[in-house]
Amino acid sequence: MTVAQFCNISEIPVNDVIVYLLKKGIAAPKNYVLSEKTVEDLASHFSVPFATVSTNELSQADLSIAASKKEGERRAPIVVIVGHIDHGKTTLLDYIRKARVAEKEKGGITQHLGAYQVLVDNDPIVFLDTPGHEAFSLIRVRGLKVADIAILVVAADDGVMPQTVESIKRIKAAGTPVIVALNKIDKATSAQVEATKRSLAQYDLLPEDWGGQVVVVPISAKLGTGVPHLLEVIHLQSQLMDLLADKNAPCKGFILESKMEKGRGDVATVICHQGILRVGDFFVCGKTQGKVTFLSNAQGQIEKEVLPSMPVLVGGFDELPGVGDLLETVSFERFKEHKNRVVEHVSSLASMHAASEGIAIIIRSDNGSSKEAIMGEIAKLSKKSFKPLHVVFAGIGMVTENDIELARDTQAIIYGFNIKVDKQAALDAKKDSIVIKLYDIIYKLLEDLEILAEQGKPIKKVSKKIGEAVVLKVFDIKGIGIVAGAQIKSGRFVKEAAKAIVYRGKYKVGEGVIKSLQRDKKTVREVQTGFECAFMLDGFSDWIVDDRVECYIEVPAE
Ligand code: GDP
Repeated sequence: MTVAQFCNISEIPVNDVIVYLLKKGIAAPKNYVLSEKTVEDLASHFSVPFATVSTNELSQADLSIAASKKEGERRAPIVVIVGHIDHGKTTLLDYIRKARVAEKEKGGITQHLGAYQVLVDNDPIVFLDTPGHEAFSLIRVRGLKVADIAILVVAADDGVMPQTVESIKRIKAAGTPVIVALNKIDKATSAQVEATKRSLAQYDLLPEDWGGQVVVVPISAKLGTGVPHLLEVIHLQSQLMDLLADKNAPCKGFILESKMEKGRGDVATVICHQGILRVGDFFVCGKTQGKVTFLSNAQGQIEKEVLPSMPVLVGGFDELPGVGDLLETVSFERFKEHKNRVVEHVSSLASMHAASEGIAIIIRSDNGSSKEAIMGEIAKLSKKSFKPLHVVFAGIGMVTENDIELARDTQAIIYGFNIKVDKQAALDAKKDSIVIKLYDIIYKLLEDLEILAEQGKPIKKVSKKIGEAVVLKVFDIKGIGIVAGAQIKSGRFVKEAAKAIVYRGKYKVGEGVIKSLQRDKKTVREVQTGFECAFMLDGFSDWIVDDRVECYIEVPAE
């Protein structure tokens, strides 16, 4: 029977059985067929009744377990290296790459794919080797776990540090099996090694030699000590996992890196977990989609198809996909549907924005980093400018007909940096009077955006005190209202567009717009210092003698 069958019948947890077998030197995944002797040994160890029966006496339940065995072929494990900065992740990856990458890859021109394969006992292991990958590689991308195994590098002379703890949390959250590489043993003391193991235990990573289940491999990434053993352990661990890839299922993978390449358009490196990716396949990927135009392997050789777990450069994306996006091959209908949905989605969002007070813009630039830079600046600009700028779409490469259509629907202006305009797009733009502005200097583009965002901005005004008066008498005039009789002590009082603030002692008691101003019972526009006058405020009439009144007018800010 297999390990899974034994566990099912005996109700012993699979992990317990696998660990027990490992300690006996047997690397047995769930579907590993156990010898009769091993079953007997397991039965006696876990106190399960044991008897030998012939195959045709196998219970129906056992047969159904055998039948439900997952379809598919083994695929190479995808390994991510995580840990605190300076603990030796890069050094370890470099060492493995130099020492173990297949001979044919050495010397030949290899292209950077963000991952590479090494062979251990003739079985490939794939290492993700792009910095920053750990952020996404330990999470699940729509149900697909990016990395199968995590190597937690901890420098023994430094111990568990903040990013170690962060990595442990992420590993736990993702449920990824972990192997600890206790690095820098060439310079750590045995006391430091023990202390590091103790802290690991505190974070629930109890080392095997302390009775736990976490394999801790002491290594020196710099000298290579222990690295072959680490690779063996990874190999063993991967054997224990059911890493099966159904080659007949639609291809599912994720984006490791993406970039715009001269002459090849938007390309990305992809690793698939299942299915075969072929030239000509339609796919959807995050917000974009495409049709595979070429596949190129680590040696830069063109392939017609790639198997699961093989990093490959893929061409044919409609737009640059995001790192970590899920790529799925789909039917032509789904591809079309996705394409339309993306455009519709963008346009409905965009029209909403355009309908608001802001300015709709479309950005096109030559590569990902210039796009990011422009977007970053726009976000900053938008916060402080008079009118917010709404980027309804930002893409890499030429201005296309789609962009013109979108610009028409959203009344957007198109800004291009270091790019050209597609011929048909240029004609469409002319027909629809769409403005396309092209630049080869980023700050010029930003300057123009700033001017655009400041257009129609009202001149900022501030209040300026121009006079002060003291109330001498309060009149209640029938049919008119309460009037303050006052003397101007300094400056002047004016009627038009002026506001008055009333103080009683130290406290402000009211304010209002001056609605009438009289001197000698005649309406005047202005009363100067020293003169007596009468006025009424719109919004305040609760006068008492000795109230102090300050007169303000609005002037443009300096
Ligand atoms: P990362 O930030 O985790 O990628 O760390 P690096 O690989 O850049 O290593 C940081 C420093 O530690 C470098 O100066 C390495 O040379 C050094 N280092 C890495 N591994 C070892 C090791 O096993 N022994 C010693 N003595 N130094 C190491």
